[in-house]
Amino acid sequence: MTTRQLTMLAVALLLAAWGFLPEFTVTMLNYIGLYALVAVGLVMLTGVAGMTSFGQAAFVGLGAYATAWFCTAPAGADLFGLSPGALALPWIGLAAGLLLSATVAWCLGEVTLRLSGHYLPLGTIAWGLSLYFLFGNLEFLGGHTGLAGLPALSIAGFELRSVRQLGLLTWAVLLLTLWALHNLLDSREGRAIRALKTGRVMAESMGVDTARYRIKVFVLAALLAGLSGWMYAHLQRFVNPTPFNLNIGIEYLFMAVVGGAGHLWGALLGAALITLMKQYLQDILPSLLGSSGNFEVIVFGLLMLLVLQRFSDGLWPSLARLVNRYLKPPQAVRNGAGDALAQRPLPERGSVVLDATSVSKRFGGLLANNNVDLQVRAGEIHALIGPNGAGKSTFFNMISGVDDPTSGSVRLLGRDMRAQASRVFAAVGLARTFQHVRLLGNRSVLDNVALGAHLRGHSGWIASMLRLDRTEEAALMREATRQIERCGLAPQLHETAASLALGQQRIVEIARALAARPSVLLLDEPAAGLPYMEKQALARLLSQLREEGMAILVVEHDMEFVMNIADRITVLEFGQVIARGTPAEVQVDPKVLAAYLGGADGETTP
Ligand code: ADP
Ligand code: MG
Repeated sequence: MTTRQLTMLAVALLLAAWGFLPEFTVTMLNYIGLYALVAVGLVMLTGVAGMTSFGQAAFVGLGAYATAWFCTAPAGADLFGLSPGALALPWIGLAAGLLLSATVAWCLGEVTLRLSGHYLPLGTIAWGLSLYFLFGNLEFLGGHTGLAGLPALSIAGFELRSVRQLGLLTWAVLLLTLWALHNLLDSREGRAIRALKTGRVMAESMGVDTARYRIKVFVLAALLAGLSGWMYAHLQRFVNPTPFNLNIGIEYLFMAVVGGAGHLWGALLGAALITLMKQYLQDILPSLLGSSGNFEVIVFGLLMLLVLQRFSDGLWPSLARLVNRYLKPPQAVRNGAGDALAQRPLPERGSVVLDATSVSKRFGGLLANNNVDLQVRAGEIHALIGPNGAGKSTFFNMISGVDDPTSGSVRLLGRDMRAQASRVFAAVGLARTFQHVRLLGNRSVLDNVALGAHLRGHSGWIASMLRLDRTEEAALMREATRQIERCGLAPQLHETAASLALGQQRIVEIARALAARPSVLLLDEPAAGLPYMEKQALARLLSQLREEGMAILVVEHDMEFVMNIADRITVLEFGQVIARGTPAEVQVDPKVLAAYLGGADGETTP
């Protein structure tokens, strides 16, 4: 049996049993479904994209209050020329709730997502509290009493009056959501989303607008919360502020983190565990302790600590590992016909593709780059060398948009790149590797490299969720595979990036850069940590790329390697160019010899 078949079977069993389950079980399942819908949004937001939100309950409240107001206030019906109690009102409430959640999330996201570190979670607490107090203090929302008398939902004339009926809708929505999000994560857009947590600088260099993706994930999570709130309101048939307070927001976060952190199904597991545990503890503790009180909160907190300590990735991975022993592994390679990706024509051989003029960079009192001039031509390997701390990596950041020069200009393929973000450099045709490897350690080599081809695909979120991106996805996968094979890493295709030796990880970075089909390739110490044979293979690869007409700029400490492959060399010392020329010229330059022999690191002696 495969995972997919097991899922289908579980769904079919649930559906078959639905009519016969006891009322209480159905009620619990319904709540679990509603909570899981919120929690799965949080898994996307917190576990996958790395943004912690304590305020998610407030979005549930927006969804619930929007429909409650439209369904109960005469003014709500009046707006659309409907009579109070019209069947269309809950649907207007749904649209209003989703619109409101998305708008509020977008505005809050614009402000709070700019915060870094602990400030973001603190920010979410702040607006979680504000919205809660707003619900309780607005006259037209009924203050702390809330709004009562909501109608039952009706779909095509069929009223969902009982928990049993409404639960079917809840679970259908939840399962559809899980399916769509699973598809989303398994796509070009999903790779970009997964990079938000730990690889934002890297993702920007691959052309991903990370700020935009963060807002979109935030809005997505808010939409799911709003949707849950809508169903919740029509289940309860009244709303008041209590279920949308900060405590509940924290519980939602617990569900996401305890269940799965970065795993979608973990949201369901977490929602089930916490809902059942709460129910059970509320019953058993008072009788055990002989007095009433909210003791479950204490036990709850302790259990939570225990789980988080033992299972930092949530419980889902452990459960999945256990079950997977009895399941067939999924087929990893997706082959298939389909058009190849568009190829960008490379610039004419010998033309200047990257032109840096008088580039300076000042860090406080330190002039890390001082009027550096450097040109890289198509079909040429240009090496940038110099002792440690000479300013080579700084210069790389200046010419790839990771950082802005204090003064000077950078032109890429004839375009002035002043104040452009690194994703714009990527779009124009530059790809780079990082001196300190920036890979997504727990993703496969294939996934990491495919992210490099981000800008060569176009499918958006909706297309990915609906699986309309499969032809393009197959082409992206083929391209990534081709680059990995070319770099000699075919045997490691499906291994996680973190399991590779550091030298190999550098090669993965090169494959990722090549997957973008760049006109200019920047390599920061690509040969560091490579055994001799693999250095030779790398040298052959770079020569081959040069033959194809790529412009390559490489920073490297291994002088033998540099002298063998470089057409031209520029030497930096204390941020300044002290020599430039062919390897033969540079090798005998007295200034270069002095810099290296007098320099601190002996290993780099030419
Ligand atoms: P290289 O790559 O040639 O070894 P770097 O470009 O990394 O050298 O560093 C050049 C100098 O700039 C060093 O003295 C380093 O300490 C300093 N430097 C680099 N980045 C920063 C930064 N973000 N803030 C302050 N100083 C920096
Ligand atoms: Mg460096």
